[in-house]
Amino acid sequence: MIATEKHQAEVLDGRTAADAIKREVADEVRSLKSQYGVTPRLAAVLIGEDPASAVYVRNKVRACEEVGIDSEKFELPDSITTDELLQVVRGLNVDDKVDGILVQLPLPKQIDDSTIIEAIDPAKDVDAFHPTNVGYLAMGRPRFVPCTPAGIIELLDRNQIEIAGANACVVGRSQIVGRPVASLLLQRHATVTICHSQTRDLPGVTRQADILVAAIGRPAFIRRDFIKPGAVVIDVGVNHLTDVAAAREFFGAEADKRIEAIHKRGYTLIGDVHPAEADEVAGKRTPVPGGVGLLTVAMLMRNTLLAAKWRRNL
Ligand code: NAP
Repeated sequence: MIATEKHQAEVLDGRTAADAIKREVADEVRSLKSQYGVTPRLAAVLIGEDPASAVYVRNKVRACEEVGIDSEKFELPDSITTDELLQVVRGLNVDDKVDGILVQLPLPKQIDDSTIIEAIDPAKDVDAFHPTNVGYLAMGRPRFVPCTPAGIIELLDRNQIEIAGANACVVGRSQIVGRPVASLLLQRHATVTICHSQTRDLPGVTRQADILVAAIGRPAFIRRDFIKPGAVVIDVGVNHLTDVAAAREFFGAEADKRIEAIHKRGYTLIGDVHPAEADEVAGKRTPVPGGVGLLTVAMLMRNTLLAAKWRRNL
């Protein structure tokens, strides 16, 4: 009898790509400093006490230190008004030392996100959410590109995954992930389908995809029957899982480690893709954590470097 080996998708490691990008940024930051005496500077604005936002900002500030970018963190109270926050943003817009402005989302409920995003100088808009930068991307002439979508393209490129001509399917149409990643894939000549909560026969659509991007915000939503055999599956989701029985089902060989994390911290992270089932069908998949999230921070470093250069016509 011939033993058949169980199929196991190859893991697309975000750390390798993110570290390479950060090294490249660090090299350019060094030469910018030695040639022009310029050190890029990021202003990170954190509002309120949301623990997840605090971790994201801390990771971004730490990444700045790693690559030699200056950073300053503005911690503002949850009770801040739109006018007060606008004043902070306008101050950073006119501060010539500041190259990039990052306002960590989500904002407290009394503040309208778009009012703040639209107040950021597009030339310092390193998150690339300002309508000017969104418009350039939609026109196929990207300037700043949102960090998570840009990171996904880098991950594909650095793993020699052919985008041109591929059937790409993006599940999710948010401004920060779904729409911009679909624009970037289209620009790179993929045939792109965008799905959302009203898509009919979602598995039937996603199963056509050579490259499947899941940006939904629902734990382990993408199951075996959503995935074309051999497809590249990019899992953008970051969800907290607290249920031990679900962790046993989702994580396959990794289950014990994940259950230990639930016992220790109260949760483990899971993406929008069912990892054990994706492993049986996909050709390659990104892990959560350790995948797209790391690229997001690396691309923020690159955007801040670009902001520093472009503002000075370098
Ligand atoms: P979002 O704004 O909540 O958008 C979710 C999208 O998923 C929406 O377009 C929604 O469709 C769609 N959707 C929801 N339920 C669906 C269903 N049953 N079938 C098909 N589509 C469905 O989320 P987001 O900001 O894009 O974030 C998505 C996930 O990525 C979250 O887990 C977030 O934490 C994570 N994320 C990770 C990073 C990173 O760096 N790794 C960065 C950003 C976000 P409708 O438009 O029809 O409602």
